[in-house]
Amino acid sequence: MILVLKKSVTKEEINYIISKIEQAGLKPHISEGADVTIIGCIGHEDAVKAFFGEAEALAGVDKAIRISKPYKLASKELGKERSIFKIGDIEIGGDDIAVIAGPCAVENLENLTEIAENIKKSGAKVLRGGAFKPRTSPYTFQGLGEEGLKYLSEARKKTGLLVATEVMDPRDLDLVCSYADIIQVGARNMQNFRLLQDVGKVNKPVILKRGLCSTIQEFLMSAEYIMSNGNEQVILCERGIRTYETSTRNTLDLSAVPVLKRLSHLPVIVDPSHAAGVWYYVEPLSLAAVAVGADGLMIEVHPVPEKAFSDGAQSLKYGTFDDLINKAKAVAKAVGRNI
Ligand code: PEP
Ligand code: MN
Repeated sequence: MILVLKKSVTKEEINYIISKIEQAGLKPHISEGADVTIIGCIGHEDAVKAFFGEAEALAGVDKAIRISKPYKLASKELGKERSIFKIGDIEIGGDDIAVIAGPCAVENLENLTEIAENIKKSGAKVLRGGAFKPRTSPYTFQGLGEEGLKYLSEARKKTGLLVATEVMDPRDLDLVCSYADIIQVGARNMQNFRLLQDVGKVNKPVILKRGLCSTIQEFLMSAEYIMSNGNEQVILCERGIRTYETSTRNTLDLSAVPVLKRLSHLPVIVDPSHAAGVWYYVEPLSLAAVAVGADGLMIEVHPVPEKAFSDGAQSLKYGTFDDLINKAKAVAKAVGRNI
């Protein structure tokens, strides 16, 4: 529920309203607009229902409105048009389109540092790379674990790039947070609610990837799990969904970008690599993602894709990545953004 306050509301009335919200077992969420202040009352549905009548009658409250969507903090209904997250010296969700790139998995320090230096030259601001890998087969490379995190941290020191890496298990969360600038929840864990709750309790931006078979509403409900636990820095990532089509690894749902942007204030990035599954579709899908309003691109890059420990087929070589970024710059310009 949101409470729209009267223009004449006093500071004392606001404090009293907040104390009543808290007494009702709800969390207040204040947005001060140029014209009006609104307070979101977030919590259990029964508590919201019980508090509705009383809330509407409080001094300083103009009206109480039920939020129609099942996700509340992720919704635009709380009054926020867009969220911009400042991470290091970059912003995600503003006019600049963030380029996040790197290998699927961290393999060794030399290879990672070389990739980091090359993607940086092309304009990437964030280095991605998995140290904990969610593999379909238990008999394939599972990631280097903490050793991989250390290499990411070394590569950051050398290049100044920010580091994004996946956390698969709540037990590894503190460890991953001690190395990463941005943590990633992968597609397979989008509905691992315990992980989402724990990720909600840390103070790090999170890239939340859309589940392989998840609807947009389910995706936003997962963002809500993180946000309702206190961490509101969620970056949504469309990475393709499973359909009947087999020509690509997944079907990139580009319409999810404008839909998410209409429903939510959260930044939306696109990972065309895991959607395409093969490198030659990555460029056209990246350009389309920028055209359709994505706030960032996440792209897998490897110097020798045929030797990559994982996802070589969809990884771009340095030259192809550089060409892609140059073309993406032109598309970004055409839609009023910058790379
Ligand atoms: C990844 O980004 O490394 C990854 C495993 O992607 P997804 O979770 O989208 O499959
Ligand atoms: Mn991968």
